[in-house]
Amino acid sequence: MADIADRAEALEANQREDALAAMRRTRDAQLARESASECEECGASIPVERQLAVPGVRLCINCQSRLEQQQKRGLA
Ligand SMILES: [Zn+2]
Repeated sequence: MADIADRAEALEANQREDALAAMRRTRDAQLARESASECEECGASIPVERQLAVPGVRLCINCQSRLEQQQKRGLA
């Protein structure tokens, strides 16, 4: 019985990995699509590396850091 249980467990783990990988691919594709290629604040183009590094990014690095500083000071 242990054999069958082990096999079932392995099969289950494989399927879970497959499902997770598929979900990750879908999510990555969605997030990459949702990233803005231009800053919503100043219109500067956002490098693809930043779009991928910050999924769903809407602002360029300048505007983002300015926003973060404002938030730190409680202005935003
Ligand atoms: Zn900007």
